[in-house]
Amino acid sequence: MNDQTETIFAKILRKEIPSVAVYEDDDVYAFLDAHPVNPGHTLVIPKKPSKGFLDAEPEVLEKLIVAVQKITQAVKIGMKADGINLHQNEGAAAGQEVFHLHIHIIPRFENDGYEHWHGKSYTSEEEAEKTANEIRKNLV
Ligand code: AMP
Repeated sequence: MNDQTETIFAKILRKEIPSVAVYEDDDVYAFLDAHPVNPGHTLVIPKKPSKGFLDAEPEVLEKLIVAVQKITQAVKIGMKADGINLHQNEGAAAGQEVFHLHIHIIPRFENDGYEHWHGKSYTSEEEAEKTANEIRKNLV
């Protein structure tokens, strides 16, 4: 039994604990977040578990992202949202609490009070270039 088998989302998939379903197919399940930023805040999870985005199989991600687009459209229309945030927390330091990959679909409304992160600045072009290089050299 691996970590993912024991997450709360694995229990939701096995119907051991309740959830409010939004969408389901062979590969994906979507349900309402129990603590929504706004009503209609939906979580989309692959049925084949991974801890997060980085350890997910590409085939799983393909099916997930296509389902996310379909569900996002329905959330936007159904909630009459002005906009949508798609969100995924990768790792505890990024705020991940449930270690079964999930995408948050968050309907947004003008002046709903939900704040974006506050950006910093690079001190120089050299610092920005050095930073980008640290990323580029790790692309495989
Ligand atoms: P994250 O911080 O990205 O791991 O998000 C976990 C999300 O799961 C949070 O937004 C929680 O509100 C939500 N959540 C936790 N338990 C449940 C549950 N039983 N049903 C629905 N949503 C849940």
